[in-house]
Amino acid sequence: MKMKVQNNYLTVNAYSRPGKKIGIITGIVVHWVANPMSTALANRNYFEGLKVGKKNSNGSIIYASSHYIVGLDGEVIACMPETEVAYHASSANSHHLGIEVCHKDWEGQFVSPIYETLLELIVDICNRYKLNPLTNVIRHYDVTGKNCPKYYVEHPEAWEQLKKEANKRLQKEEIEEIMIQLNGKEKKVTTINKEGTNFIKLRDLADEHIDIGYDKEKRIPIVTIK
Ligand SMILES: [Zn+2]
Repeated sequence: MKMKVQNNYLTVNAYSRPGKKIGIITGIVVHWVANPMSTALANRNYFEGLKVGKKNSNGSIIYASSHYIVGLDGEVIACMPETEVAYHASSANSHHLGIEVCHKDWEGQFVSPIYETLLELIVDICNRYKLNPLTNVIRHYDVTGKNCPKYYVEHPEAWEQLKKEANKRLQKEEIEEIMIQLNGKEKKVTTINKEGTNFIKLRDLADEHIDIGYDKEKRIPIVTIK
């Protein structure tokens, strides 16, 4: 794994890190920071600065934060543990992790290495919480209708592509050779590791006590213990 997550937690405060326990995590909400060329640290520090109770131009107090910020160089800052609620997508906050993503211009496309890191982070989270990237990874837009993350609201096909790529990486099968002990003897077998389970090739289990055959008529493998 190339991605390095730097924990730089916000101070617990009412406006950006309420310290409330998050519910069962059912998804991820992706955002853009809406501030071209701003760094992950600058955005983290912006969230930290909200602790004094800052107001926006309408005079209402700003509540904002996210669990992760993906930076321009592909760095990742964690603003709080995943066990806590962040303020990023109103009604979705109680069951979703938030990822803010830095971008280079007002178009807001996530380019390399930002894109790669975002994918890696999404795949990592989906793997740990058993989420489906195609259905459980959503845009801020999908929750509130806000134009966020802008490029992926205006280019829905690019958003679909991002989710498909994450799903492909999550499903990627890891083929490797491992040693197993079979009837008291060590034997090298080929395995496919899928979501934490090793699947062993049936034919690799053949030894002097086990016959592996194939019934061509019925088209089924035959396992015989001698
Ligand atoms: Zn947003």
